[in-house]
Amino acid sequence: MNDCLLVDTHLHSDNSPDGNHSCMFICENAVSMGLKAISITDHCETDVYYQDHYDRSTMQSYFEILKAKEAYRGKLVVLRGIELGEATYNAPLAEKIISRFDYDIVIGSIHNLRETLDFYFMESFEERQAKAYLHTYFDELIGLADWGKFDTMAHITYPLRYFYAKSGIYIDMCEYKSQTDELFSLLAEKELALEINTGGLRQPLRKLSPEADLVKRFRELGGKYITFASDAHYVSDLAYGFSEAMEAAKYAGFTSCVFYQQHNPMEIPFA
Ligand SMILES: [Zn+2]
Ligand SMILES: [Zn+2]
Repeated sequence: MNDCLLVDTHLHSDNSPDGNHSCMFICENAVSMGLKAISITDHCETDVYYQDHYDRSTMQSYFEILKAKEAYRGKLVVLRGIELGEATYNAPLAEKIISRFDYDIVIGSIHNLRETLDFYFMESFEERQAKAYLHTYFDELIGLADWGKFDTMAHITYPLRYFYAKSGIYIDMCEYKSQTDELFSLLAEKELALEINTGGLRQPLRKLSPEADLVKRFRELGGKYITFASDAHYVSDLAYGFSEAMEAAKYAGFTSCVFYQQHNPMEIPFA
Protein backbone atom coordinates (compact mmCIF):
# COMPACT_ATOMS: atom_id res chain seq x y z
CA MET A 1 0.00 0.00 0.00
CA ASN A 2 1.21 3.51 -0.78
CA ASP A 3 2.71 5.16 2.31
CA CYS A 4 0.55 8.26 1.90
CA LEU A 5 -2.44 6.12 2.90
CA LEU A 6 -0.59 5.15 6.10
CA VAL A 7 0.32 8.56 7.54
CA ASP A 8 -2.43 10.42 9.38
CA THR A 9 -1.61 14.03 10.30
CA HIS A 10 -4.70 15.01 12.31
CA LEU A 11 -6.46 13.03 15.06
CA HIS A 12 -7.67 13.47 18.62
CA SER A 13 -7.05 11.65 21.89
CA ASP A 14 -9.15 11.88 25.04
CA ASN A 15 -7.23 15.08 25.86
CA SER A 16 -9.66 16.74 23.46
CA PRO A 17 -13.12 17.45 24.90
CA ASP A 18 -14.69 15.31 22.15
CA GLY A 19 -11.95 12.64 22.06
CA ASN A 20 -12.43 9.06 23.20
CA HIS A 21 -9.16 7.14 23.52
CA SER A 22 -5.80 7.47 25.23
CA CYS A 23 -2.68 8.17 23.17
CA MET A 24 -1.34 4.67 23.94
CA PHE A 25 -4.57 3.00 22.80
CA ILE A 26 -4.53 5.04 19.58
CA CYS A 27 -0.91 4.04 18.89
CA GLU A 28 -1.63 0.37 19.55
CA ASN A 29 -4.49 0.48 17.04
CA ALA A 30 -2.44 2.45 14.51
CA VAL A 31 0.25 -0.26 14.64
CA SER A 32 -2.25 -3.07 14.19
CA MET A 33 -3.76 -1.22 11.19
CA GLY A 34 -0.27 -1.02 9.66
CA LEU A 35 0.03 2.78 9.85
CA LYS A 36 3.54 4.25 9.60
CA ALA A 37 3.13 7.65 11.29
CA ILE A 38 0.49 9.65 13.15
CA SER A 39 0.40 13.16 14.53
CA ILE A 40 -1.76 13.46 17.63
CA THR A 41 -3.31 16.92 17.41
CA ASP A 42 -5.60 17.64 20.34
CA HIS A 43 -7.85 20.66 20.35
CA CYS A 44 -6.77 23.98 21.79
CA GLU A 45 -9.39 26.70 21.27
CA THR A 46 -7.53 29.97 21.73
CA ASP A 47 -10.67 32.05 22.35
CA VAL A 48 -11.70 29.98 25.41
CA TYR A 49 -8.21 28.84 26.45
CA TYR A 50 -8.46 29.56 30.16
CA GLN A 51 -12.19 29.20 30.71
CA ASP A 52 -12.26 25.73 29.09
CA HIS A 53 -8.94 24.70 30.73
CA TYR A 54 -6.97 24.14 27.54
CA ASP A 55 -3.90 25.26 29.47
CA ARG A 56 -4.16 21.97 31.39
CA SER A 57 -5.42 19.65 28.64
CA THR A 58 -2.76 20.70 26.11
CA MET A 59 -0.05 20.06 28.68
CA GLN A 60 -1.51 16.64 29.47
CA SER A 61 -1.77 15.93 25.73
CA TYR A 62 1.84 16.91 25.04
CA PHE A 63 3.30 14.71 27.78
CA GLU A 64 1.11 11.73 26.85
CA ILE A 65 2.25 12.07 23.24
CA LEU A 66 5.88 12.10 24.42
CA LYS A 67 5.27 8.93 26.43
CA ALA A 68 3.62 7.19 23.47
CA LYS A 69 6.40 8.38 21.15
CA GLU A 70 8.94 6.66 23.38
CA ALA A 71 6.88 3.50 23.88
CA TYR A 72 6.30 3.01 20.13
CA ARG A 73 9.79 3.92 18.94
CA GLY A 74 10.71 1.62 16.03
CA LYS A 75 7.09 0.55 15.50
CA LEU A 76 5.29 3.80 14.72
CA VAL A 77 6.40 7.39 14.19
CA VAL A 78 4.44 9.46 16.72
CA LEU A 79 4.45 13.20 16.08
CA ARG A 80 3.65 15.94 18.58
CA GLY A 81 0.83 18.10 17.33
CA ILE A 82 -1.85 20.57 18.30
CA GLU A 83 -4.98 21.76 16.51
CA LEU A 84 -4.94 25.45 17.33
CA GLY A 85 -8.43 26.88 16.87
CA GLU A 86 -9.23 30.57 16.39
CA ALA A 87 -5.60 31.70 16.81
CA THR A 88 -6.26 35.17 15.43
CA TYR A 89 -9.01 35.88 17.98
CA ASN A 90 -6.16 36.26 20.49
CA ALA A 91 -2.90 36.23 18.55
CA PRO A 92 -0.56 37.05 21.47
CA LEU A 93 -1.98 34.10 23.41
CA ALA A 94 -1.79 31.84 20.32
CA GLU A 95 1.91 32.66 20.00
CA LYS A 96 2.44 31.81 23.64
CA ILE A 97 0.62 28.47 23.21
CA ILE A 98 2.66 27.32 20.22
CA SER A 99 5.96 28.26 21.81
CA ARG A 100 5.15 26.43 25.05
CA PHE A 101 6.11 22.99 23.71
CA ASP A 102 8.28 21.59 20.95
CA TYR A 103 5.60 20.65 18.41
CA ASP A 104 6.16 18.83 15.13
CA ILE A 105 2.96 20.19 13.62
CA VAL A 106 0.59 23.04 14.37
CA ILE A 107 -2.76 22.79 12.59
CA GLY A 108 -4.55 26.10 12.10
CA SER A 109 -8.34 25.91 12.18
CA ILE A 110 -11.52 27.85 12.87
CA HIS A 111 -14.60 26.23 14.42
CA ASN A 112 -16.62 29.31 15.29
CA LEU A 113 -16.96 32.94 14.31
CA ARG A 114 -16.10 35.56 16.93
CA GLU A 115 -18.35 35.48 20.00
CA THR A 116 -20.50 32.72 18.51
CA LEU A 117 -20.89 28.98 18.98
CA ASP A 118 -18.95 26.31 17.13
CA PHE A 119 -21.02 25.48 13.98
CA TYR A 120 -21.19 21.96 15.41
CA PHE A 121 -23.29 23.24 18.33
CA MET A 122 -25.63 25.47 16.31
CA GLU A 123 -29.16 24.12 15.96
CA SER A 124 -30.25 25.16 12.48
CA PHE A 125 -29.56 27.63 9.69
CA GLU A 126 -31.43 29.64 7.08
CA GLU A 127 -29.84 29.83 3.66
CA ARG A 128 -29.18 33.59 3.67
CA GLN A 129 -27.70 33.45 7.14
CA ALA A 130 -25.56 30.41 6.24
CA LYS A 131 -24.16 32.26 3.22
CA ALA A 132 -23.33 35.29 5.34
CA TYR A 133 -21.66 33.10 7.96
CA LEU A 134 -19.57 31.44 5.26
CA HIS A 135 -18.49 34.81 3.90
CA THR A 136 -17.28 35.83 7.38
CA TYR A 137 -15.74 32.39 7.89
CA PHE A 138 -13.55 32.80 4.79
CA ASP A 139 -12.55 36.30 5.88
CA GLU A 140 -11.40 34.77 9.18
CA LEU A 141 -9.46 32.03 7.36
CA ILE A 142 -7.76 34.71 5.25
CA GLY A 143 -6.81 36.52 8.47
CA LEU A 144 -5.50 33.24 9.88
CA ALA A 145 -3.40 32.56 6.76
CA ASP A 146 -2.09 36.11 6.97
CA TRP A 147 -1.01 35.43 10.60
CA GLY A 148 0.51 32.21 9.27
CA LYS A 149 2.12 30.71 12.38
CA PHE A 150 0.98 27.14 11.69
CA ASP A 151 1.94 24.35 9.28
CA THR A 152 -1.32 23.28 7.63
CA MET A 153 -4.80 24.78 7.46
CA ALA A 154 -7.58 22.40 8.48
CA HIS A 155 -11.01 21.66 7.00
CA ILE A 156 -11.51 24.99 5.21
CA THR A 157 -15.15 24.17 4.38
CA TYR A 158 -16.01 23.17 7.97
CA PRO A 159 -19.37 25.07 8.18
CA LEU A 160 -20.71 23.27 5.08
CA ARG A 161 -20.96 20.00 7.04
CA TYR A 162 -23.32 21.55 9.55
CA PHE A 163 -25.34 23.66 7.09
CA TYR A 164 -26.18 20.40 5.33
CA ALA A 165 -26.55 18.10 8.35
CA LYS A 166 -28.76 20.48 10.36
CA SER A 167 -30.74 22.30 7.69
CA GLY A 168 -30.19 20.46 4.38
CA ILE A 169 -28.47 23.54 2.91
CA TYR A 170 -25.90 22.94 0.19
CA ILE A 171 -23.79 25.91 -0.89
CA ASP A 172 -21.94 26.12 -4.20
CA MET A 173 -18.38 27.18 -3.48
CA CYS A 174 -18.16 29.08 -6.81
CA GLU A 175 -19.89 31.99 -5.04
CA TYR A 176 -16.83 32.35 -2.79
CA LYS A 177 -14.17 32.15 -5.50
CA SER A 178 -12.58 35.54 -4.83
CA GLN A 179 -12.19 34.67 -1.13
CA THR A 180 -10.90 31.13 -1.67
CA ASP A 181 -8.47 32.44 -4.30
CA GLU A 182 -7.15 35.02 -1.85
CA LEU A 183 -6.84 32.35 0.84
CA PHE A 184 -4.99 29.90 -1.44
CA SER A 185 -2.64 32.60 -2.75
CA LEU A 186 -1.71 33.54 0.82
CA LEU A 187 -1.13 29.92 1.87
CA ALA A 188 0.97 29.36 -1.26
CA GLU A 189 3.01 32.49 -0.75
CA LYS A 190 3.83 31.47 2.82
CA GLU A 191 4.48 27.84 1.76
CA LEU A 192 1.81 26.60 4.17
CA ALA A 193 -0.01 23.33 3.54
CA LEU A 194 -3.67 22.81 2.76
CA GLU A 195 -5.26 19.89 4.56
CA ILE A 196 -7.57 17.42 2.83
CA ASN A 197 -9.82 16.46 5.71
CA THR A 198 -11.82 13.24 5.32
CA GLY A 199 -14.00 13.88 8.39
CA GLY A 200 -16.79 15.20 6.16
CA LEU A 201 -17.02 11.81 4.41
CA ARG A 202 -18.39 10.45 7.69
CA GLN A 203 -21.01 13.23 7.91
CA PRO A 204 -24.35 13.35 6.04
CA LEU A 205 -22.71 15.68 3.46
CA ARG A 206 -20.21 12.93 2.54
CA LYS A 207 -17.63 15.28 1.03
CA LEU A 208 -13.94 15.92 1.48
CA SER A 209 -13.03 19.25 3.03
CA PRO A 210 -12.17 20.79 0.68
CA GLU A 211 -13.37 19.00 -2.44
CA ALA A 212 -11.08 18.14 -5.37
CA ASP A 213 -11.86 21.29 -7.41
CA LEU A 214 -10.68 23.54 -4.59
CA VAL A 215 -7.54 21.46 -4.07
CA LYS A 216 -6.87 21.93 -7.79
CA ARG A 217 -7.31 25.68 -7.50
CA PHE A 218 -4.88 25.73 -4.56
CA ARG A 219 -2.27 24.08 -6.78
CA GLU A 220 -3.00 26.42 -9.71
CA LEU A 221 -2.33 29.36 -7.40
CA GLY A 222 1.06 27.95 -6.39
CA GLY A 223 0.16 25.68 -3.45
CA LYS A 224 3.01 23.27 -2.74
CA TYR A 225 1.98 21.08 0.16
CA ILE A 226 -1.06 19.06 1.16
CA THR A 227 -1.68 16.95 4.26
CA PHE A 228 -4.10 14.04 4.65
CA ALA A 229 -6.21 14.19 7.78
CA SER A 230 -8.80 11.79 9.15
CA ASP A 231 -9.64 14.09 12.09
CA ALA A 232 -10.42 10.81 13.88
CA HIS A 233 -12.02 10.98 17.30
CA TYR A 234 -12.36 7.15 17.34
CA VAL A 235 -9.61 4.69 16.40
CA SER A 236 -11.93 3.10 13.83
CA ASP A 237 -11.61 6.34 11.81
CA LEU A 238 -7.79 6.43 11.61
CA ALA A 239 -6.66 7.09 8.01
CA TYR A 240 -10.32 6.91 6.96
CA GLY A 241 -11.03 7.72 3.31
CA PHE A 242 -7.38 8.38 2.41
CA SER A 243 -7.70 6.74 -1.03
CA GLU A 244 -10.39 9.32 -1.81
CA ALA A 245 -8.08 12.09 -0.53
CA MET A 246 -5.31 10.76 -2.78
CA GLU A 247 -7.64 10.70 -5.80
CA ALA A 248 -8.54 14.35 -5.16
CA ALA A 249 -4.87 15.29 -4.77
CA LYS A 250 -3.90 13.48 -7.99
CA TYR A 251 -6.78 15.13 -9.85
CA ALA A 252 -5.43 18.47 -8.60
CA GLY A 253 -2.01 17.63 -10.04
CA PHE A 254 -0.17 16.84 -6.80
CA THR A 255 2.30 13.97 -6.87
CA SER A 256 2.89 13.76 -3.12
CA CYS A 257 1.50 14.71 0.28
CA VAL A 258 3.49 15.71 3.35
CA PHE A 259 3.60 15.18 7.10
CA TYR A 260 5.48 17.47 9.48
CA GLN A 261 8.48 16.71 11.63
CA GLN A 262 9.67 19.69 13.68
CA HIS A 263 7.68 21.88 11.29
CA ASN A 264 9.55 20.53 8.25
CA PRO A 265 7.37 19.16 5.45
CA MET A 266 8.38 15.51 4.80
CA GLU A 267 7.26 14.42 1.36
CA ILE A 268 5.54 11.11 0.64
CA PRO A 269 5.31 10.48 -3.13
CA PHE A 270 2.12 8.91 -4.51
CA ALA A 271 3.99 6.68 -6.96
ZN1 LIG B 1 -11.15 21.03 13.65
ZN1 LIG C 1 -9.64 18.04 14.54
